[in-house]
Amino acid sequence: APTSFENRPALWRHRLMLPTQAGHKYDRGHAVVFSGPASQTGAARMAAMAALRGGAGLATVFSPASAILVNAAHLTAVMLKRCENAAELETLLEDGRMNAFVLGPGFGAGEGARAYAEAVLSAGRRLVLDADGITAFQDMPDALFDAAVAAGNGREDDGPALVLTPHAGEFKRLFPDLAEAELGKADRARKAAARSNAVVILKGRDTVIAAPDGRAAINATGTAWLATAGSGDVLAGLVAAQLAQNTPTFEAACAAVWMHGKAAEAFGPGLIAEDLPAMVPKVLADLI
Ligand code: AMP
Ligand code: MG
Repeated sequence: APTSFENRPALWRHRLMLPTQAGHKYDRGHAVVFSGPASQTGAARMAAMAALRGGAGLATVFSPASAILVNAAHLTAVMLKRCENAAELETLLEDGRMNAFVLGPGFGAGEGARAYAEAVLSAGRRLVLDADGITAFQDMPDALFDAAVAAGNGREDDGPALVLTPHAGEFKRLFPDLAEAELGKADRARKAAARSNAVVILKGRDTVIAAPDGRAAINATGTAWLATAGSGDVLAGLVAAQLAQNTPTFEAACAAVWMHGKAAEAFGPGLIAEDLPAMVPKVLADLI
């Protein structure tokens, strides 16, 4: 079996894009996060903040009409656009500079997530699928995997188009047989990545990042204080930050997981999810 390695900056530091003297914000990419309904919008905003702190040049929340006002009341640097259905999304996707998407945190149940995920992938954009976005495919995972394969054609340059960020419970919804199998965590993630043609971030203590080509890295940063509501949503935004900046998918996922853990270490006890994005500048300063 292929060996797994520890997730170290030496693996990916050289792939991180840093702002250049002559650069403008669009050079750093534009991350988009889908908001859920009015009662659960915070997750999307935290992911969008993490995308900006992680270095995306722009971040926008796509919100259903019912949640526009609550989102508007709580956003400053992050922008806001209405996205009510798949037809409106198609129009929004005409802006080709929006290059990295997050779907799932606080998105809510419902069928909308499947159409959104498929539209983003077929438009050639990279997608981080988390939480409710993963659950939306639990009865038809092959539809997701087929979309990821189709999106992957012709993009060997920067790696898979899809990143899945399940915790153990979400992993079991997409990969029930692998969740039951007598496998170590790294092999579980590696098989899931090969099957789905996605980079899989299997979260928890000792998060594993696995790629369809068999690479797998085991993360060693982070603290038990990360076991708090919303911390995974911030991770999804940090992955999108790297995708927006054109970091290759596997390295993007490794960098984001490492930084997420370092941000928790830097904050210390009492951490809640919304503390994490604000710690990212300190993590970056020590890294670059
Ligand atoms: P979620 O389950 O989506 O909220 O994501 C939780 C995040 O916190 C993931 O990035 C996990 O890897 C991380 N996490 C949860 N529990 C621990 C723990 N005990 N030690 C380190 N990281 C953890
Ligand atoms: Mg989560």
